[in-house]
Amino acid sequence: MGEPGIEALYEQVRKLIPGADDAPALGLVQVAPRIRVLALRTPTLPPAAHTNVYLVGPSQGPVAVVDPGSPYPDQQAILDTILAELPISRVLLTHHHGDHVGGAAALAAHRGVPIAAHPATARRLDDIIEVTELIEDGDEIDGTIAVHTPGHAEGHLCFEIDDASIAGDMVAGVGTILIDPSEGDMALYLASLERMRARTPTTLLPAHGPPIRDGHAKLTEYLAHRRMREQRVLDALVAAGAGATTDVLLSVVYADTPRMLWPLAERSLLAHLAKLVHEDHARYDAAGGRWSR
Ligand SMILES: [Zn+2]
Repeated sequence: MGEPGIEALYEQVRKLIPGADDAPALGLVQVAPRIRVLALRTPTLPPAAHTNVYLVGPSQGPVAVVDPGSPYPDQQAILDTILAELPISRVLLTHHHGDHVGGAAALAAHRGVPIAAHPATARRLDDIIEVTELIEDGDEIDGTIAVHTPGHAEGHLCFEIDDASIAGDMVAGVGTILIDPSEGDMALYLASLERMRARTPTTLLPAHGPPIRDGHAKLTEYLAHRRMREQRVLDALVAAGAGATTDVLLSVVYADTPRMLWPLAERSLLAHLAKLVHEDHARYDAAGGRWSR
């Protein structure tokens, strides 16, 4: 389709928003009874500049290492030092994006442990990283329950343990979650947010930023925000009458968003439009390049 992948978009936005990578890596912090976190610098979506690595298990190990995402040798060295005295069971991946898997192969090879992920994630990583264990929805692994939450990425998993859920890129403690229509799905994302809200864990541990203690409230806020945006898309389509181009819709629906973020906003807009077309609430005239009701 010629659409840029999510990593290319992240890189594009990093050029527009400089300086976000200046923050130092954070130290190891206990965030739940059996979960510690270490934030490592990664090539991710600004204003976030780090991806959280979660260590799941007792303090003396063995631990599962969730999303060792940094491709940078200095950051991998920090993680190696922290893990040096700890037995490791495996590497767990929430999804396939580069800022979540960038250090996975190196760590797994160095420590001789498997890499486990959802089958759809394994497919996406084919030829890049060898996923040696497949995890399906509801599987118990390393004391967690894996919950399949597609939308941001087809194979996205959350890992629930006690009262907490390692939430990957379903919610963000800093910055925003991008649903890119080339590989994301807005309808699935909203359904997954609903599913998470109906489950027990209230503490959400995002891949970027600090723990979200009232997770149910955050999920309600996310759902309301996306529905507000979808309503604006519908309103703009009604106002456009015979049809409007993507650029015109963008300027109306994201009038409240800084212009430099419009390359990202456009991806979100297209994800909303794809959902509306699928639900028969919108139409696209490819010849004229116009969207209408
Ligand atoms: Zn992601």
